[in-house]
Amino acid sequence: MKITKEHRQWLDDFGLSHPLVIAGPCSAETEEQVLQTAHLLKETDCNVFRAGIWKPRTRPGGFEGVGEKGLPWLQRVREETGMKVTTEVGNAEHVETALKYGIDILWIGARTTVNPFVVQEIAEALKGVDKPVLVKNPVNPDLALWLGGVERLQTAGVSQLGVIHRGFSAYNTLHYRNKPKWHIAIELKKEFPNLPLILDPSHICGRRDTILDVSQTALDLNYDGFMIETHIDPDNAWSDAKQQITPAQLDQITRDLKIRQKSSSKEAFQHKINLFRKELDLLDGQLINLLKDRMRISEQIGVLKREENVAILQSGRWSTILDSMIEQGEKNGLSKEFVAEIFKAIHVESIKIQHTVS
Ligand code: PEP
Ligand code: MN
Repeated sequence: MKITKEHRQWLDDFGLSHPLVIAGPCSAETEEQVLQTAHLLKETDCNVFRAGIWKPRTRPGGFEGVGEKGLPWLQRVREETGMKVTTEVGNAEHVETALKYGIDILWIGARTTVNPFVVQEIAEALKGVDKPVLVKNPVNPDLALWLGGVERLQTAGVSQLGVIHRGFSAYNTLHYRNKPKWHIAIELKKEFPNLPLILDPSHICGRRDTILDVSQTALDLNYDGFMIETHIDPDNAWSDAKQQITPAQLDQITRDLKIRQKSSSKEAFQHKINLFRKELDLLDGQLINLLKDRMRISEQIGVLKREENVAILQSGRWSTILDSMIEQGEKNGLSKEFVAEIFKAIHVESIKIQHTVS
């Protein structure tokens, strides 16, 4: 897949000096709720108004969206505020209906991206249609599946594209509703620098108080914009109440975000950053050497175990190492999660090496 500047034309056409802001309620509930929210958003940095018309629900019985009758409300939003409007499409029929009402931008939800049959059906329904389509990441952390969705659209002739990172479901997510995978986003930016990358902190956080923090991380990684659920009365929202914020709170968040320059040409900055980078390169080289030495010793241990016919995995020893490294790390200001992740990777590699010699 090749993504060129033309694929991000829709975003460049906004001519923004700040990241794109898509905001609006999780669900369109009533005409008043939609219009009141939109008029308040109009006074903020919001560029595109979102509202779910068809809602995919984890269990039946929840609010499944108002359906087609909500689409004229979005038309009114556009007429009265001048903002573009967007909604989620989950099948070919949704696409046809949304197009009938001239919805400006469509997005494919996380539960739809996981299913190539449905994405293909949506792509076919979009043949010959020149509207931006944004693909949310699938619920499971599979970059190929995510990009596959974009590819299906591109192959069907959709030329205005973008992706939305809304986090990935996982067990033991204490902090997040859907865990962000920043390295996947970094890979995406590296491989497809022209593909607009938007963050949905609402579905990542599942709560209000961490939205700013997660959004700042995204800005520091050069994200192109945000989709943030915003409701005139969040506590009484019919879906995703806990994570929705008011238009005033959205306004505060966009003010508090620190927009970074891509780079600086100041000589002092360049000089300092080059020195720091040299130092990092040296340390990284040392890390590689240390890892090489460590793996060589693992290999010798593997040989020894083979000679004595001893099992490779020694659970007790491994927990001792991990606990002790986490403790040392914490004394040195390194987070538990970080140290655990590194040592787990080292341990897996050690076991692999011991296998090859046993
Ligand atoms: C939504 O945007 O309201 C939504 C249903 O999102 P997701 O597909 O990310 O769960
Ligand atoms: Mn939602």
